[in-house]
Amino acid sequence: MIEFKDVEIKYGDFVAMKDLNLKVEEGEFFTLLGPSGCGKTTTLRSLVGFVNPSSGGIYIRGKNITHLPVEKREISMVFQNYALFPTLNVYENIAFGLKVKKLPKKQIEAEVQDIASKVDLSDEQLLKKVSELSGGQQQRVAIARALVLKPSILVMDEPLSNLDASLRVQLRNELKKLQRKFGITSIYVTHDQEEALTLSDRIAVFNKGVIEQVGTPSDIYNKSATEFVCNFIGDINKLDQALLGKIKDQIRKPLDVTKPAYLRTERVHTSMQVADRDIASLRAKVVDIDYYGLYTKYTLDVDGSTIKNVEKEDGRTTYAMGDEVTIYMDGDDIMQF
Ligand code: ATP
Repeated sequence: MIEFKDVEIKYGDFVAMKDLNLKVEEGEFFTLLGPSGCGKTTTLRSLVGFVNPSSGGIYIRGKNITHLPVEKREISMVFQNYALFPTLNVYENIAFGLKVKKLPKKQIEAEVQDIASKVDLSDEQLLKKVSELSGGQQQRVAIARALVLKPSILVMDEPLSNLDASLRVQLRNELKKLQRKFGITSIYVTHDQEEALTLSDRIAVFNKGVIEQVGTPSDIYNKSATEFVCNFIGDINKLDQALLGKIKDQIRKPLDVTKPAYLRTERVHTSMQVADRDIASLRAKVVDIDYYGLYTKYTLDVDGSTIKNVEKEDGRTTYAMGDEVTIYMDGDDIMQF
């Protein structure tokens, strides 16, 4: 559906994206994820047509759109702050793009009504000013305004980042439901790894103007392709050489103590069925405890090396400061680069 081929994007002499090669399938929810300044927005803007690549090509359904004007690309955008018109009512906001296109009044009315009912905006809400709506309702208006133009692609640039944590989670779920309902190919930009993991069919992880990995959320998390990706996603232990040496002596998987090695905190266990697995075990002492409710994070000391583990709250496994525990680690869970 969308393809970037050998795209390079420059601002003056500064190369913001290089060797950009990416394919997005029809109907996919595809996320561009990475830290601030890595080139996500630049990539999105090149697809929409706000910036021009200095080389390479962008294709939609096989057609080269690299130099096509913005309005001919059939792409709608939802912005970070929704960019709704605060003094217009909801109906007028949704109808705006159709009016610009000079469609007949009857047709505009029918299309606004249709999209409003699909995103659950009532007739009463259509007459309200945008400033009188909740954050969630405003999000639905922004999406309705984008979808009413019947774009082939919906792009969203951090649409949840201005909201408080609980509303963000709630709207994230709504957004996912709406995208599934419409099945529209969607490109989503975020720096929030949890948002990316929960929303996406696939994710591209960006770092300093290059893509480090493209994959499903589970691939990105469990089979991180690079040291950057495994550090950026989730909660992880970097194993020091002393720890790595102790683990290496106990397991079959070959480890190189001179190379960086990582182990996710939830893959450090305090009890384990060890049969048929490649397990190392070590004695450790609890030196710090962070209680999160859903789980508890323990900082453990192993002869001067630090390792963290998380225990799911099950009302049973609780340790106190100074407790001695045995930790178990599976060689398969250790990622080396
Ligand atoms: P954020 O999450 O902070 O928006 P981002 O990953 O979307 O970050 P971009 O906005 O794509 O990053 O910026 C990528 C790089 O290009 C940054 O180093 C930025 O400083 C630079 N850049 C972005 N826009 C311009 C511009 N108009 N002129 C010059 N440099 C720019």
